[in-house]
Amino acid sequence: MFMGVDIGSAASKCVIINDASEVVAQTAIPSGTGTSGPQRAADKALEEAGIGMEQVSCVIATGYGRQTFKAADGRISELSCHAKGAVWILPTVRTVIDIGGQDAKALSISEGGKLTNFVMNDKCAAGTGRFLDVMARVLEVDIRMLAELDAKADGIVPISSTCTVFAESEVISQLAKNVPVTNIVAGIHQSAAARAASLMKRVGITEPVLMTGGVANNAGVVRALQRMLGVEIRTSPYSQTAGALGAALLARERLEKE
Ligand code: ADP
Repeated sequence: MFMGVDIGSAASKCVIINDASEVVAQTAIPSGTGTSGPQRAADKALEEAGIGMEQVSCVIATGYGRQTFKAADGRISELSCHAKGAVWILPTVRTVIDIGGQDAKALSISEGGKLTNFVMNDKCAAGTGRFLDVMARVLEVDIRMLAELDAKADGIVPISSTCTVFAESEVISQLAKNVPVTNIVAGIHQSAAARAASLMKRVGITEPVLMTGGVANNAGVVRALQRMLGVEIRTSPYSQTAGALGAALLARERLEKE
């Protein structure tokens, strides 16, 4: 068995694969680096797989907090891991949009499945999971409810500020005007999608396109991005754990080479 642990700013993910590169367990715990999240994600995955740590031949850690995971046999950047995971999910993938808790990246993948280019936003919360988390808190809704609210919108309230702090004030003033929450949520998703679309245009969009990272769980953002670009944006049950999956696949390759 091989384990990949992706320690992000917002969540800790763990994937265990077997010798045939099949996923036997995947977990995502909404506590990131600096918390007990990484260990809990690993323990839960071991339990799901029904194995002990002694049955894991190699562990690779990735993500923002990868240096902090002591049980790792190696550490690999999240770009390499996300590309690896994305190609496993969709072997023909050519463009990946990864939106996590504190950054967003667009990746170009060659026909042969290699990472050839990327652009990244890690300077600003706009268009990241953090932006959506802040907005959900202001609206007093669970982050998992945003997509459902968006689906019920009968209009879009545009959010003009790109800055998360100013956008938060804008949402508060819309709430004060009694604008339907559903339409505000649609505006929030449109704003996040616009940031993702601009990253994707900078790297160049070739189909098929796969979305990874936790924000891929938000169908409202996926639909908004699809509308904006006019291309199909695919997601997978492994979208949030793509980095951990890539790390597990690289753990397997590392042991094969030795
Ligand atoms: P990181 O790797 O930076 O920790 P992730 O890729 O795990 O981030 O993504 C975390 C983000 O994904 C959260 O900030 C949240 O906005 C979003 N997210 C996670 N799960 C869901 C869900 N079920 N529905 C909507 N959004 C989600």
